Amino acid sequence: MAETRCISCGAAPLAPILHLGTTPLANALLTKEQIGKPEPRFPLELRFCATCSLVQITEKVPPEQMFREYAYFSSFSDTIVSQAGALAARLVKNRGLGQGGLVMEVASNDGYLLQHYRKAGIPVLGIEPAVNIAKVANERGIRTRCEFFGRELAATLRAEGLQADVLHANNVLAHVPDLNGVVAGIAAVLKPGGVAVIEVPYVRDLIEKCEFDTIYHEHLCYFSVTALDALFGRHGLALADVERIPVHGGSLRLFAAPGAKRGTAAQKLLDEERAAGMLGHAYYAGFARRVESLRKDLLALLERLKGEGKRVAAYGASAKGSTLLNYFGIDAGTLEYVVDRSTEKQGRYTPGTHLHILPPERLKSDHPDYLLLLSWNFLDEILAQQAEYRTRGGKFIVPIPEVRVV
Ligand SMILES: [Zn+2]
Repeated sequence: MAETRCISCGAAPLAPILHLGTTPLANALLTKEQIGKPEPRFPLELRFCATCSLVQITEKVPPEQMFREYAYFSSFSDTIVSQAGALAARLVKNRGLGQGGLVMEVASNDGYLLQHYRKAGIPVLGIEPAVNIAKVANERGIRTRCEFFGRELAATLRAEGLQADVLHANNVLAHVPDLNGVVAGIAAVLKPGGVAVIEVPYVRDLIEKCEFDTIYHEHLCYFSVTALDALFGRHGLALADVERIPVHGGSLRLFAAPGAKRGTAAQKLLDEERAAGMLGHAYYAGFARRVESLRKDLLALLERLKGEGKRVAAYGASAKGSTLLNYFGIDAGTLEYVVDRSTEKQGRYTPGTHLHILPPERLKSDHPDYLLLLSWNFLDEILAQQAEYRTRGGKFIVPIPEVRVV
């Protein structure tokens, strides 16, 4: 069912930016038995709202159809865990948090962030909708409720006297169908002097660095500061501060606070976006052409390597890898398999393209000449982990922002 109105401000119509065809859900990994059976597919199209500047996809897949069992375990990335520690330490210091405080996280995953507050003696509450992940978090001693966050849960928490000094929401805002409900919930659950620290991928990085593979059905929204300022303002929250951070190909870290004044960094980014033309559709108009040119470059390289008799596999059975492989039409005819550190994914097959997912140890016994890096957002971390593969002559093909071999 296609949604034609803006998910944030309700305006219509939305202007087309890029159509990625009809693809399976990016995290719908298959078992061996499921291969050969029909896979549900949904249109994947990116559009722009001229009223509030929000970039979004038009197809809303019901949340219960999204894969909640094999969701991403944050602790599997060294980079994310260490960055989370630094952020928690900074908030504890700057906000003077202690035993009487409360830190919440929406979509708290396995407790990768809250564990740092807990170690510092600060009470925490995680909210995580995936049953298996919430279970892991609770077993690790991170108090976690297995629920979807929104207006309703926020009201319940408030009624129980649970209000947050700091509320984190990392890479969650882009995923929620009821965007206004979640932001209203954040506003309701914060203490009067509290702050929400929210990370979202930045649409400017997506466009400038041609990160089209970060588009998939679970990512409903692709935010600019302009779109976020309108969204938060609607619910009485101001962007007290905004930082650009390198995580996930380029993200924004927002500090939103009730009744606060818009900060100078936020204003500067708003001015930059206006100057760059991001408030108009023209800014996005050439994107589809650039993605097409990336496709030609990558397919030409793979064809040349195969022609030379080289063996090629892939690294990272990521959601973004699913978009790239499906849209570019790269499957098991070109890539022998894909390796991934997540034991949840190993043994399964990638959606639509049916690559077998194997543990990275496979690269020690088998030695493909090239690995197409589908988790390019962890480039440095993966290159370090795979030093041995590279010493033995193995090479990585990095597809984004332009095709290169390292
Ligand atoms: Zn809008």
